[in-house]
Parts: sequence; C-alpha cells; structure tokens
Amino acid sequence: MKFRTRAIHVGSKPDYTGAVVPPIYLSTTFVQPGPGDWGAFDYSRSGSPTRSRLQEAIADLEGAAGSLAFSSGMAATHCAMGLLPAGSHVVAGCDMYGGTYRLLHKICNRNNIEVTLVHADQANHIVDAIKPQTKMVWVESIGNPLMSVPDLQQIASITQKAGVLLAVDSTFVPPCILRPLELGADIVMHSATKYFGGHSDCLAGVLSAKTPELLQELYFIQNATGSVIGSLEAFLLHRGIKTMELRVREQSHSALRIARWLESHRSVKKVLYPGLESHPDHQRARRLMGDQFGGMVSFEVAGTIDTAKTVCKATKLFGLAVSCGAVESLIEQPATMSHASYDAQARAKAGIHDTLIRISVGLEDPEDLIADLDQALALGGGA
Ligand SMILES: *Cc1c(COP(=O)(O)O)cnc(C)c1O
Repeated sequence: MKFRTRAIHVGSKPDYTGAVVPPIYLSTTFVQPGPGDWGAFDYSRSGSPTRSRLQEAIADLEGAAGSLAFSSGMAATHCAMGLLPAGSHVVAGCDMYGGTYRLLHKICNRNNIEVTLVHADQANHIVDAIKPQTKMVWVESIGNPLMSVPDLQQIASITQKAGVLLAVDSTFVPPCILRPLELGADIVMHSATKYFGGHSDCLAGVLSAKTPELLQELYFIQNATGSVIGSLEAFLLHRGIKTMELRVREQSHSALRIARWLESHRSVKKVLYPGLESHPDHQRARRLMGDQFGGMVSFEVAGTIDTAKTVCKATKLFGLAVSCGAVESLIEQPATMSHASYDAQARAKAGIHDTLIRISVGLEDPEDLIADLDQALALGGGA
C-alpha cells in the first residue's frame, strides 16, 4: 500500500469495541497474569497501547525495524547520543539545530565525547574527520538554517566502510519525501513536534532504527532514562501523521512558489531552498527527494541585523516564533532565536549571518503569504 493509506491504517485497527479511532489509554500500570509473568504491557514507561500503535505506524512509514516515541525531539536525540561510550567522537554537520549543538557541546562533552563539525554536504570532509574513536556521524537531511543537502547515500557508504553509525535528523524532510533508512542510515530522528504533529500542539520526538539490535539498544536507554511520550501526545501525533503527506505536499508547493518570489525581490540578497535551481545542492536534492523539498525557506535580506529584525517583526500572518512544520506559517531570525545557543564564532564560521531570516511555510493560501512578506520587506527598507 502507498504512504497515505498506510499512514491512516497501520496501527489504527479498531479495538474490540469497534471504535474507528482507538481510545487513549492513560493507565500507568497493567494487571499481570501472574507474579513474574509479564503481559503485553506492564508499566507505561516501558510501553503503552497508545504508544505502541503510534510506533507501529511510524516504523512502517520509515521502513524501520521499529520506532520509539519520546517526550521531545531533544529527548530522542539524547537517547541516540546515549549509544556513545565515554571518550568517543562524533562527526556532525555544522548547520544543525541549535539544541543539538548545545547537547553535543554542553552535555555530551561531560562524558568526554568530542565533536568535529563539518560541511556535511561535502562528503570528503566527513571522510577526513573520521578517526579511530569515531562512533557516529550525525547529519540533518536538510541542514538548518542554511538548507544544505548532504548526499545521504554517499555518506552511508562512507560510514558503513568505517564501521560508524549514521544517524540522520530528518525533521525538515518527513518520511513522505525522504526515508533515510532506505538510503543506508542506521538511525533516523524526527522532532515530531514539527511535520508529524503538524499543528503546533504536541511536543514529541521519534527514533527509528534499521535493525532490531539497534532498536533494542535504544529501547533499553529510553526505558532506563524515562524520556517517553505521554499517551495524550501519542494520540495527537498519531492523528497528525494521517494527514502528513497531504500537508507536506501542499507546503512544499507553496514554499517553492514563495522561494521563487523571494528570489526576484530586490531587497532579498539570497534565497536558500533546495527546490530552487540556484541552490548549490539542487540536483542532489532532486535525486534524493524527487519534486518536494518541504516548507522551510531561508533568505538573506540586504541591509543589517536591524533590517532582518524589522522584517521579522512586521509580518502579520507569519508568527514570529521558532519551530516549524505546522499549518500556520512562522518567521524567525536564526542568529538571535533558533541558533542563539551556537557560539557566535561557530555561527559565523557556518555562514549563519545576522541578516538571515528563516520561514516555515504553513497551509495558508500562498498568495496571502506573499502579500504579507511583501509588506514586511517594504517596512524593512526595501522595495
Ligand atoms: C525542533 C527540532 C529539534 C528538537 O526537537 P524538539 O521537539 O523541539 O525537542 C531537533 N532538530 C530539528 C531540525 C528541529 O527543528
């Protein structure tokens, strides 16, 4: 069956009551058949029926041996980093989520885990950075906020040869567009807060593993540390993924249209969107993702940091907020918002300039979104 059909039906079989929407199980504990005789569920940190249904659906959509749902994207990422022994080394893409940067540099470093940041869209930089202690390569399938597109296939062949795990944060590119496990990744992570939930009302994260062994290792860490999704969130997330393909297709369509319009605007210096022919990784993005590139667009305005701030404050439909992937459009300035947890130097080195603006295109009519950006750019001192 196709993605859309599976998103609606896998994990959603009616229960014994015939309920078309399976109920939310809030019970934290489960009656056992006998002492030491575990039933299907025992305690909800270890598993619950509502979470199981969700995980079954996600594993199917990702082509995974199994999936685990967490209380947030960062909880999922932290669990994946839990695979790393003290003193090991990680190679990571340099334009990555600010929270991941912070986790690696301010928490994982406490276990003497060392990080080398590279431009992940240049696979040879990854080869050069791998050393004997390297245990994991961590990349985002579209870099954040610069929209670089690493060649996941090529990176997978590098990590397989080196005996290193490849973990992909694919938050910007949901599985209806790209399934990193099929390209050779070992682990895929999603901040399900974004496209999976899709309505800015559910904080959650997901890990999916290529093999049952890896799944088991991750499950052990999750159960031991307790960073599980709650049943109410699991229910919301499961509802969200049923419409994911439809939402993302429309968002990709609108984002391309808006990116093209921005490219022709005279107060816009540069537009970063993998769907644009002008994007340096456009051909690679087409090969990996087909004709949809998600709803995230970054652009640099002509002017100063204040121009960028003025534009971000002047939009009326785009909410000035971090996060992404939901039905409502958002705008933000990475240097002072999503990427404020980077060191200023690392930000400059990665090319995340103060005049950069990032938008998350929602499901409003793209004409209305363009009109909103147009008036905001005019107030910013352009047009
Ligand atoms: C939001 C986000 C995260 C973190 O997820 P939370 O659900 O906020 O904890 C990680 N990576 C990317 C690319 C994100 O956008």
